[in-house]
Amino acid sequence: MDSNCVKRQEVPMTIPDSKRLRTSSHSSNEEMTTPSDIDMSEVDESKYGEDLEKGIIGALNSPKIAKELEEKKILVIGAGGLGCEILKNLALTGFKQLHVIDMDTIDLSNLNRQFLFRKKDIGKSKANVAASFVMSRVPGVEVVPYFGKIQDKDEDYYKQFQIIICGLDSVEARRWINAKLVEMYDEDDMETWKLLIDGGTEGFKGQARVIIPTMSSCYECSLELFSKPTTFPICTIANTPRLPEHCIEWASVLEWPRVWGDKKYDTDNPDDINWMYQQAAARAATFKITGVTYSLTQGVVKNIIPAIASTNAVIAASCCNEAYKLATFIAPYLNNYMMYTGNSGIYTYTFELEKKPACPVCGVESTTAEVDPNMTVEELIDWLAEKPDAQLKKPSLRTASTSIYMQAPKVLEEATRPNLSKKISELVDDGEYITVTDAALPVSLQLRIKWKA
Ligand SMILES: [Zn+2]
Repeated sequence: MDSNCVKRQEVPMTIPDSKRLRTSSHSSNEEMTTPSDIDMSEVDESKYGEDLEKGIIGALNSPKIAKELEEKKILVIGAGGLGCEILKNLALTGFKQLHVIDMDTIDLSNLNRQFLFRKKDIGKSKANVAASFVMSRVPGVEVVPYFGKIQDKDEDYYKQFQIIICGLDSVEARRWINAKLVEMYDEDDMETWKLLIDGGTEGFKGQARVIIPTMSSCYECSLELFSKPTTFPICTIANTPRLPEHCIEWASVLEWPRVWGDKKYDTDNPDDINWMYQQAAARAATFKITGVTYSLTQGVVKNIIPAIASTNAVIAASCCNEAYKLATFIAPYLNNYMMYTGNSGIYTYTFELEKKPACPVCGVESTTAEVDPNMTVEELIDWLAEKPDAQLKKPSLRTASTSIYMQAPKVLEEATRPNLSKKISELVDDGEYITVTDAALPVSLQLRIKWKA
């Protein structure tokens, strides 16, 4: 990211849904899993012997463990707030072969927390600068940077790593790497089995998870848990504001169009933001609400949340701890999701997110979509984009025999465009499968169409 703040919709923070959560089976308590509940039988004691008695930290001095770390090749995706922390931690833990991918360049606003960068580095590649910095500080570590997109790399590239850690702020990149690693897995070739550790932060909240392709739930299994941007009920905004945000929403959603008509506000124009701030502050005073500030107004209107260095540090530490355990099997690894909130006090919760049988990436069942037969193809495409467990950007649809609508190439798009206004029932039969492809996913999705009664 180029900015000190991240756009809300790009943030992969999840709010767990209680229906899909199951606490670890090792837990005697229904609510929480504590380290003592973890089954130590998974740990390979014979391998390290007496080194284990020194505990995880003490074992860092074990030559056998040091060798394990040296032999592992780790890929870090993202060299931003989380990535800087992750690279530093891995290097200091004793990993020697690191690779890092990032397509971004360094911005002034990154420097408060992305500590591998200096003012002189502004404009340069994050991956390149991070790699040189870590190598200059930690002798014996090799960090190979790649300044570009993860999609530029093929299976052969990803095959060389044992563990991949994501410190990303984009849902799309996570979906892509997750699907790629699941797709790569071949049960007859253990070399294709890559362990994925995913970290994410949003303000004071964060999560770390371990994804073992095909064995544990994958990123796509939980896609619908990813929260949509926070919105407030319009009646609360209009009548009963309780929070400073309600007053700001009132100023931008109701007052602005009332006063300015069709003129759109510009979130980068300080005059517009200031006007909304003044309105919101006056309304807040009427309702005896405190906390409306210029920067909060800007945050709410632009839908941004701050990036917080300490949250990055906590989540990166958790991710690297998992990398250390997965590389050595010195202790049981996270099964499989840890969430952290630091909004008011510190709270963490660990649970097992279950595999979704109809997950388009790792599931075995196909998804059935119940749709109105009178729906047009265009409406179906919009519906797929909105659907919380699909979230597709520009889906293309085809059946075994017909191209319903193809977004690309241009010739096909033009040829199939007349279908957009047709009823879906003119092109598809009840029970027929539609193959959906989308730029967001390297795999296609099979959708069984069932008419709504
Ligand atoms: Zn899945």
